[in-house]
Amino acid sequence: MVKELQLRVNLIEERKEDILKKKASKKLEINIASITAIKVLRKSIDARKKDVIFNYKVAVYINEPLPETPDYVFDYKDVSNAKEIHIIGFGPAGMYAALRCIELGYKPIVLERGKNVQDRRRDLRAINQFHDVNEDSNYCFGEGGAGTYSDGKLYTRSLKRGDVRRIFENLVYHGATEQILIDAHPHIGTNKLPKIIKNIRENILKYGGEVHFDSRVTDFIIKNNKLQAIQLQNGTEMTVNSVILATGHSARDIYELLHKKDILLKAKSFAMGVRVEHPQEIIDQIQYSCTGQRDELLPAAAYSLVHQVNNRGVYSFCMCPGGFIVPAATANGEVVVNGMSPSRRNNKFANSGIVVEINVDKDLPKYEKFGVLKGLQYQKDLEKLAFNAGGRTQVAPAQRLTDFVEGRFSHSLNETSYQPGLNSSPIHSLLPKLIGSRLRKGFTAFGKKMHGYYTQEANIIGVESRTSSPVNIPRKDNLEHPQIAGLFPCGEGGGYAGGIISAAMDGERCAEAAIANL
Ligand code: FAD
Repeated sequence: MVKELQLRVNLIEERKEDILKKKASKKLEINIASITAIKVLRKSIDARKKDVIFNYKVAVYINEPLPETPDYVFDYKDVSNAKEIHIIGFGPAGMYAALRCIELGYKPIVLERGKNVQDRRRDLRAINQFHDVNEDSNYCFGEGGAGTYSDGKLYTRSLKRGDVRRIFENLVYHGATEQILIDAHPHIGTNKLPKIIKNIRENILKYGGEVHFDSRVTDFIIKNNKLQAIQLQNGTEMTVNSVILATGHSARDIYELLHKKDILLKAKSFAMGVRVEHPQEIIDQIQYSCTGQRDELLPAAAYSLVHQVNNRGVYSFCMCPGGFIVPAATANGEVVVNGMSPSRRNNKFANSGIVVEINVDKDLPKYEKFGVLKGLQYQKDLEKLAFNAGGRTQVAPAQRLTDFVEGRFSHSLNETSYQPGLNSSPIHSLLPKLIGSRLRKGFTAFGKKMHGYYTQEANIIGVESRTSSPVNIPRKDNLEHPQIAGLFPCGEGGGYAGGIISAAMDGERCAEAAIANL
């Protein structure tokens, strides 16, 4: 017999051997010897009260052996000679689109502007050490897309958009640990992601798909409103039938190309702000109500904050406990920050984007002349402003949190994880009021919600500008562009995802739609 149970375990109990068995036998009023095994189905931590509680959902096997761990099998087919689907971009959306094509018996041909995950590392080093941004290979572009050198947080709110569990199982199939199927807030870590991504690529190749690196798509050949061919930067032209456009929200050249060709786009609301960095110990102490270091059984603490200021949300975004702030620019002449963390989340800093909602219809009157690309232009301008304020390299402008809120220049800054370095700048007077004044009110409110958060030991670093796409590439119910037959806008770049998992799910859906179109 198998019974499912919810069990609560405190920190002292968590250290005890067989604690789940003991608790289960007590709760079920059965002899402990009759419990053959316990399988953890879900684990979460509740730190709202001083006594931290681990909440477990378990399956209790009574007089019955634990079945072998299921192999997560995906029915991939040999597609070497199958009909082709072209996929532009090899981020989560493109990777999962390619895998789904193979499952359904179609051959994915992937075109990726960046390099493979190994070679990409060299270009990241060049950004961090020499401030040199390769416009095809950086923290956003290259194998695995923007999700590769990230936190690998696998949280998504878009539960309706597809089968989240299926995406997780597929990650396990390609080498992620089964822990991601259990944790309430699963994450993989930037040190583990590259191997998984390499396994995905090798699997695609093994079944007859194609993945071409250094293959930036630079033009679409359209006749009678039907996509006929795509052109690469090396001049190659490829005849196409169905194309999944999964180029992410940093591929500004793609938006500009579509706009130039009069292909329908829409301006989309988005969010921008700064990244805040605290010593992890401060966040641990607030969240776990402890003094000194957190208990070794507890993970680096995270937080999630939101506050309404003058009808706009100010909220934390992509919080990285025990992580690093990274330079996420995709071109020279701009400074963009983002966050990532290793699987153990053992760095001494906690960072998070703190961003303000930008309503594209109301907030950017001076940008109306840019039409549907107004949000994009606004992003560009702030990234340029950050570049100039940092000193015209990848050094980022920064200010102590309290100085920012109270409108003072910082004569010194706190230590940081941001490798290119920081330059003290009066960010309070540089940011547009729309963002700056809301951020200042937001930080004050956050300090009241989390005592100790509002501290001079934190820096704010600018700018956090690539939260989501400022442009939407429309699509019909069948996921095809309303004007251009054969074009399937996909993932974050189209405005249909906001993170690794939702992008992956959209990739699968677009593959199904593109195949249905053949
Ligand atoms: P992308 O991942 O952006 O992939 C697009 C791909 O298209 C890129 O590989 C790019 O090189 C390629 N491309 C672009 N233009 C062209 C072209 N013209 N021709 C050919 N190829 C092209 N999300 C989470 O859920 N959890 C996290 O912890 C997390 N952390 C992040 C940390 C960082 C530093 C960054 C930058 C992002 C993070 N994100 C995180 C966001 C997440 O990475 C994205 O939401 C996700 O990758 C979007 O997937 P996508 O496939 O739609 O686009």
